[in-house]
Amino acid sequence: MPNNAIYRLKDVGQTVTAQGFVAKVRDLGHLVFVDLRDRSGLLQLSFDADHPLKEEASQLKNESVIEVTGVLKERSNKNKEIPTGDIELLVKTLTVLSMAKTPPLMIQDDTDALEETRLKYRYLDLRRPVLQNLIRLRHDIMQATREYLNQADFLEIETPILNKSTPEGARDYVVPSRIYPDHFYALPQSPQMYKQLLMISGFEKYYQVAKCFRDEDLRRDRQPEFTQIDIEMAFAKEKDVMALAEGLVKHVFKKANQAFSDQPFDVLTYHQAMEVYGSDKPDRRFGLPLIECTELFKNNSLPLFKGKKVKAILVKEGAEKITRKLSDSWAEMINVYPETTLLVLKKEETLTGSIVKNLADDEIKGLIALGLETGDALMVVMAPDVYGPAGRLRLLMGEHFKLIDATTHDAFFVVDWPLYDYDHDAKRYVSMHHPFTAPKTLESLEDPGQALASAYDLVIDGHEVGGGSIRIHQKEVQETVFRHLGMDEKMIEEQFGFFVKAFDYGTPPHGGIAFGLDRLVMILGKTDNIRDVIAFPKTSSGQCLMSEAPGQISDHQKKELSLK
Ligand code: ASP
Repeated sequence: MPNNAIYRLKDVGQTVTAQGFVAKVRDLGHLVFVDLRDRSGLLQLSFDADHPLKEEASQLKNESVIEVTGVLKERSNKNKEIPTGDIELLVKTLTVLSMAKTPPLMIQDDTDALEETRLKYRYLDLRRPVLQNLIRLRHDIMQATREYLNQADFLEIETPILNKSTPEGARDYVVPSRIYPDHFYALPQSPQMYKQLLMISGFEKYYQVAKCFRDEDLRRDRQPEFTQIDIEMAFAKEKDVMALAEGLVKHVFKKANQAFSDQPFDVLTYHQAMEVYGSDKPDRRFGLPLIECTELFKNNSLPLFKGKKVKAILVKEGAEKITRKLSDSWAEMINVYPETTLLVLKKEETLTGSIVKNLADDEIKGLIALGLETGDALMVVMAPDVYGPAGRLRLLMGEHFKLIDATTHDAFFVVDWPLYDYDHDAKRYVSMHHPFTAPKTLESLEDPGQALASAYDLVIDGHEVGGGSIRIHQKEVQETVFRHLGMDEKMIEEQFGFFVKAFDYGTPPHGGIAFGLDRLVMILGKTDNIRDVIAFPKTSSGQCLMSEAPGQISDHQKKELSLK
């Protein structure tokens, strides 16, 4: 196996054999240089004036695979940019192991190839050092995770891919059964029920680097299949799972050589996160907190204010910077939220803004008292559900004014989630987390709309990196929750019969968490493209451009599967 980039000045004089891809050929006439690339980096090969192989070397096509033997010597023209820049290999023998055609994309970090081309020739794309490094980082993170959890006495246990569906809110991918016509397996959205059953099976501490599948509308940062670091612990309380999660994340960051505070992670309630940042996964690496203003306008009879909540963002010295064009573009972006209005107020000699003439004196005074000084701007967002648009505006402003310090990481937990959300269309509750999450108190189930969950999310740099909960471990409680979710006895029995039955035979209280591995690698690898951290990803429309999956199947296969 080659390891060509380990050689340094101290190795000069050694005879070595090197293999790899031809990264670049430079024919200077009297001299030919070839950059040889392998996983470890670059090594320069040199062929001097009357070298018998000089001609052959100058004809080498990029990306061909060669083997050379030669003697390491000191370079006359050193290259400080690469670790092997002081030396080169004076080639004695050259064997072409595999000749390459001209590749459809350049194998270098800065490529102008279309992503479509890169995904079609993914094996070439993956040769680019940036991607090599990200895939290696993914490996390191996975190993650091295993190291940490093994040391904490967790067992890595696999759970099935061919399942009965685990309803976790998304659509299932299904696989037809050949033996049972009209019957289907579902691919796991997560191993949720299985990991709970492992607790009932007495394994106490479980983890798995688990593939999960969700047939959702895809977005830029979503893939139909993704990987979770999935964890479950018996006899654990919220604080136990959170402590384990924190320890694991700190270990992983350390192993990936990234500075991370050793301070304990902050804990925010869901309510605080929404009120102050308008998001359940806020990016706290910059300020611009939301200021609550609903009360201030409670006596305002303008139709504009009716039934709306009001949040404001104060921008010190923002009056000049926030042009009409800029605020119009923000308004357009937050208008995707229903009945949203954005008002821009500026403090010059007086308070200015289109709404001002319609405001009462005490409203104007109240606004100024929020801290407005001459030259400042106040962005006022109004909507029946103001958190979404106000949180979005805050992010847009943070990005626009480049307030986000990308050199630091900010990690914290969000706790005290509502147990349910109310689905007005379906006229029933839906789980905020999933149906197995325990309420904070059993009494609270009597008023489902107010019940809080024993759930926690881990947020890093404005991304939800992990989420989990303490689980329900009493059959009656689980059945109550299923009923709140609109299921009758028959549905419970059909979908979850096997699961709730297990609760009858002794169920340790338990809880767990799952981390999105892809997201973790993205944060540590500083990329915002999820496809950069997956060796063979799908496009944002769920296709593999290389293998052309999904593909059609033959009539014979369809017949065997009883499909029409
Ligand atoms: N199964 C959950 C999820 O995928 C995580 C958990 O509750 O442990 O979000």
